[in-house]
Amino acid sequence: MNIKTFRCSCIGGTHYISIYYFKDEPEVYFELIDDVCRFSFWKRLTEAFKILFGRSEVCLDSIIFKPEQTQELIQFLQEKHNGCD
Ligand SMILES: [Zn+2]
Repeated sequence: MNIKTFRCSCIGGTHYISIYYFKDEPEVYFELIDDVCRFSFWKRLTEAFKILFGRSEVCLDSIIFKPEQTQELIQFLQEKHNGCD
């Protein structure tokens, strides 16, 4: 299995996307991972206040890629594409 994980570039940044594929299968899998559940109660409360007072922004259902991450993503998918030919 080939896998690459990207952390979201938002300030909240507690969520990830894992992209993986198997060499002998045509599908590519995208799995969203929210790591906030691993935080303690006080850490989650602190994060909530930061968002509430605009000191942090968080995206609820998307993953933000920085340009260098986008390049990594393209390269990763290109490797899959080339492997399928
Ligand atoms: Zn985010």
